[in-house]
Amino acid sequence: MSEKKIICTVCPKGCRITVILNDGIIESIEGNICARGKKYASDEATEPRRVLTTTVRAGEVMLSVRSTSALKKDRMFDYMKTINTTKVSGPVSIGDVIIKNIDGEGTDIIATKNIK
Ligand code: SF4
Repeated sequence: MSEKKIICTVCPKGCRITVILNDGIIESIEGNICARGKKYASDEATEPRRVLTTTVRAGEVMLSVRSTSALKKDRMFDYMKTINTTKVSGPVSIGDVIIKNIDGEGTDIIATKNIK
C-alpha cells in the first residue's frame, strides 16, 4: 500500500488529493471536488504526463518548441535525447512540425517561434 499526495492543477482551487495505491492499482481517491480532479489524480498517480517546452538548435540560434500534447513524464529523457540531436535549417514558422510523432502516439514537436 502506498499513498500519493497530489495538488490538482486543473483549476485554480488547487484541491489536495490523496490517492491510495495497492501494487500500482488505485484503491481510493479522496479530496477532489469534481470528476476532472479525480481523472487528473488518477493519471498523475499512475502515468504522469507533461507538455514539453524546450529549444532545438537552428544554426546560430535556438528555436523554441513544444509538444502538441502531454508526454509521459518517465520518457522525457528519451524525448530530450531526440530533441537535442535535432538540427533545424531554413525558415521556420510558428506551428511547423519539427519532429513528427516523437512518442509513437501521435504527438509532434512544433515550433513556437518564427525563424527567417
Ligand atoms: S478537483 Fe476539481 S475543483 Fe478541485 S482543483 Fe481539481 S478541477 Fe478544481
